[in-house]
Amino acid sequence: MKTQVFTIHDPQAAQEQLLDAGRILRAGGLVVFPTETVYGLGGDGTSPQAAADIYAAKGRPSDNPLIIHIADPEDADKYAYTTELYFALAKAFMPGPLTVIMPKRDNVPSSVTGGLDSVAVRCPSHPVARALIRAAGTCVAAPSANISGKPSPTDARHVVQDLDGKVDVIIDGGECEIGLESTIVKIMQDEQDEPYLVLLRPGAITHDALCCVCRRVDIAPAVAEKLAENERPLSPGMKYRHYAPTAPLVLLDGNDDQVLAFLRAEQASKNCCVLCYDEEIDALSSGTLIPVGARDDLAAQAKRLFAALREADATNAEIIYAHLPPMQGLGLALYNRMIRAAAHTVLKI
Ligand code: AMP
Ligand code: MG
Repeated sequence: MKTQVFTIHDPQAAQEQLLDAGRILRAGGLVVFPTETVYGLGGDGTSPQAAADIYAAKGRPSDNPLIIHIADPEDADKYAYTTELYFALAKAFMPGPLTVIMPKRDNVPSSVTGGLDSVAVRCPSHPVARALIRAAGTCVAAPSANISGKPSPTDARHVVQDLDGKVDVIIDGGECEIGLESTIVKIMQDEQDEPYLVLLRPGAITHDALCCVCRRVDIAPAVAEKLAENERPLSPGMKYRHYAPTAPLVLLDGNDDQVLAFLRAEQASKNCCVLCYDEEIDALSSGTLIPVGARDDLAAQAKRLFAALREADATNAEIIYAHLPPMQGLGLALYNRMIRAAAHTVLKI
């Protein structure tokens, strides 16, 4: 198929193109769109065929469920059984980078939810995404717009690399602001019927922020740890290898001086690629150095991470090194993505 690329930064100035893209979604087509987190590969969230086409385009296992995207937080009621806690979360964080898992209604086909009786719902804040969902007049099922296993796309060029010829439209809205996928929480109930949350995937909405809205927010063990052989994860996506560059990625855990000395020695003896902090640029040899942002600027590192992993892949280095991120705040989201990309390989220096 021939993929059309629409460049849209301001939805007001591109109403015709958005109506076109909305019609394509309603007719069962696939449209890639920008969000504040990463690019999404969208199809009609009420159509089993669209879900099948999304899985095929991505090469994604069909038991890994899709997130449905809505234009307004209140629309969740059409597709899921919402609760008071959902609306408290919506008030605090939506539209924005938070996905909430709730029991699904019958109009969401089980092919969208990977056979589960729950559905993941998100209302993105990106104006182009919201305008597209409104134009479609349905919810939009959308996983990240990458080939399964590759880093999520944070720029339309990554999408073109992965999906050109496999989707009807790619909407180029420039670079994504956050750069890591949404925080995912599931609404649960304890023995006293009190609601609480389980954090399934960390993102820009941090654990601390969630704790301001809900008294109890458990962190699923698979967020930071390796799943045991045969262990059944709470979220199917947790069991898949993710974001992996072709060369092995090794995360370095140690104090700044020791890590820098290690990297200098490695650079002298190996064809390695280093994802470094901006402050380290002058102390390392420039060959295959990929700066990811200032040491303490986790937001900048989050925004850069997936593009940096793609760039690292293109260097043909035999090994890629990066710093092990801290596990607090936004660091937990970085840690969660990087530990998967590294297949849990951490070197203590
Ligand atoms: P992606 O679409 O690439 O952002 O990944 C979506 C993530 O949401 C995957 O890891 C899924 O496993 C998870 N997810 C979606 N729906 C559900 C659900 N109903 N229950 C648990 N996890 C879900
Ligand atoms: Mg993904």
